[in-house]
Amino acid sequence: MDGFRWVSLIFFTLCMLVPTSSWSNSFLTKEKLTEIPVKFLDLAKETELLNWMVGIRRAIHENPELGFEEFETSKLIRTELDKLGIAYKYPIATTGIVGFIGTGKPPFVAIRADMDALAMKEAVEWEHKSKIPGKMHACGHDAHVAMLLGAAKMLQEHRNDLQGTIVLVFQPAEEGGGGAKKMLDAGILENVDAIFGLHVSSSYPIGVVAARSGPILAGSGFFEAVISGKGGHAAIPQHTIDPILAASNVIVSLQHLVSRETDPLDSQVVTIAKFQGGGAFNVIPDTVTIGGTFRAFSKENFMQLKQRIKEVITGQAAVQRCNATVNFHEDDMPFYPVTVNNKILHEHFKSIAGEMLGTKNIKEMKPLMGTEDFSFFAEVVPGYFYHVGMQDEAQGPFPSVHSHHFKVNEDVLPYGAALHASLATRYLLEHQPEYSSPKGSSHDEL
Ligand SMILES: [Zn+2]
Ligand SMILES: [Zn+2]
Repeated sequence: MDGFRWVSLIFFTLCMLVPTSSWSNSFLTKEKLTEIPVKFLDLAKETELLNWMVGIRRAIHENPELGFEEFETSKLIRTELDKLGIAYKYPIATTGIVGFIGTGKPPFVAIRADMDALAMKEAVEWEHKSKIPGKMHACGHDAHVAMLLGAAKMLQEHRNDLQGTIVLVFQPAEEGGGGAKKMLDAGILENVDAIFGLHVSSSYPIGVVAARSGPILAGSGFFEAVISGKGGHAAIPQHTIDPILAASNVIVSLQHLVSRETDPLDSQVVTIAKFQGGGAFNVIPDTVTIGGTFRAFSKENFMQLKQRIKEVITGQAAVQRCNATVNFHEDDMPFYPVTVNNKILHEHFKSIAGEMLGTKNIKEMKPLMGTEDFSFFAEVVPGYFYHVGMQDEAQGPFPSVHSHHFKVNEDVLPYGAALHASLATRYLLEHQPEYSSPKGSSHDEL
């Protein structure tokens, strides 16, 4: 709490300095609940705001930064927040930012964007192609930042009509680094009642959103094993202990964990994605390194897989007279929990997205084996994560995330901005405290 006091001071000072909204006929009222989503979408589609979001997205796209290195991205966001007169706290988890719009009092609702890019080369030839070799925004996090800023701009224009406080979360390192966990450990969700996050998706058409109640994305972890034998001449195998053969048997045995040890109706994955060993045609190497990922939809299954992966690697390596060490790299790549959507927020989402886009455009999605560190937030407060479609055949195919050919359909930006703004403002309006304590309490402050 204390850490937020200075933010509180700046926040209220700014509220006094920035001119108040000229919007006299507010649509952000309990009487006009159903109008809110459509109004926000109309506002977000206005040329000026759309172009502003497109400009931000392209600027970030040209300068992709990896997890915990999003210094320029973070600076760009802070510059825009400064121009908008939105108070924020920085740095959190190295590059993260938390902004505040509204009364500074409960309820508090958070909306979140991730900022990091991927270590891969962009294969799309266009004017705003990545200028950084080997780095690319191939997961749409550039668009997520632009959408959250778009929402922030609209919300700030209507800040005097907000019935509570909207917390803007710009987090680093979603792609494996667990930036959300570090933000959480810094206390950013203290006092926050609910959090919403989104992801652009090429699996659904533009104007369509998809989500589900309950588990939506898997829990995931990574592992790496070094299998050590004794190298030597490839033609004299009897004088060696061959780690290539041992690693091959390890991999085959690992594939039995899902096919033989788990319930076929309960989705789990074990994938070996890395196999490194040897460098010559006629030399058996001393060691082989293998690595991969494992996924499950419950904590119990996840921990069981983790234990069995270690047992199978060490046990099977021993059968071939090798030693093995297994490292789950939890410090750099923390296990991501299962992303679980809150049941009540699912109803909230369906109602608001339905009013904005029509109920036929709200799709119930199947859980995916993909993963999201939004799950750390949703473990602590009620959370909701949804997909925003951007496929448009008229504009050609939009390949899926993590492809070198990944593209964002920029027409999706107003949808994300409007959904963020609508979900948050409606949450505040629908979760007003039943009475205010005459004395107040420190819990009611930022
Ligand atoms: Zn990604
Ligand atoms: Zn992503």
